[in-house]
Amino acid sequence: MRILVTNDDGYHAPGLTVLEEIAAQFSDDVWVCAPSEEQSGAGHSLTLNRPVRLHKFAERRYAVTGTPTDSVMMALREVMDSPPDLILSGVNRGANLADDITYSGTVSAAIEGALAGIRSIALSQVYSRETAGGPNEFAAAREWGAKVIAPLLDAPFADRTLVNINFPPRAAANVAGVRVTRQGFHDYSRGSIVEGKDPRGHRYFWFGLHAIEHTLDHGTDLEAIDEGCVSVTPLQLDLTHHASVTALAARYEELG
Ligand code: MN
Repeated sequence: MRILVTNDDGYHAPGLTVLEEIAAQFSDDVWVCAPSEEQSGAGHSLTLNRPVRLHKFAERRYAVTGTPTDSVMMALREVMDSPPDLILSGVNRGANLADDITYSGTVSAAIEGALAGIRSIALSQVYSRETAGGPNEFAAAREWGAKVIAPLLDAPFADRTLVNINFPPRAAANVAGVRVTRQGFHDYSRGSIVEGKDPRGHRYFWFGLHAIEHTLDHGTDLEAIDEGCVSVTPLQLDLTHHASVTALAARYEELG
């Protein structure tokens, strides 16, 4: 099995090493192609207004001066001589739950893989005040990663679907299990924007990610993490709200 590993935290991020170790439990044909710098929050963006450069660090190890989507495209079209059987994106440092998903470069790299018809999985390690920066920061992902991926390797994936996995901020022994969940709801609309002055006196703004309101609805990814479980959410790329199609069409009847 050939595996492509990528991320949005960048080629030098600790979570990429964690994911390479997880991938190595399934295959010795693991390729890395990741953004050369951190791209968190890049979503599914594609670099169109400047050139992208490809750096080869070693056999099967590359960095791309672009986004996670650029990295997957480069891997599939330029770097690899035959496509991977599996794309793993992460392990992101921080949650990709609920409405994080559309902002997420980690999930978007897996979206790009799904668009190319390749089995793709995004992985994120939620951190807390207790685990941030400490030895347990990636503990749950490290111990549970291969166990959670294994059942997905021969599971049927419908076209244009992917799987989003989040690990709770707990020591591996305290993880309460694995739940298959649905996407929850986060409200970022009241997220803070911090204003300051740079050393030359110019105003800047910095988007904060704290003070997020969220509801822990039953069956959601948010609830699973809150209760100390690994969350496994199948996602689809078709964003159509099918139930609204007929009602909306009625509004345009006069226009033909
Ligand atoms: Mn990230």
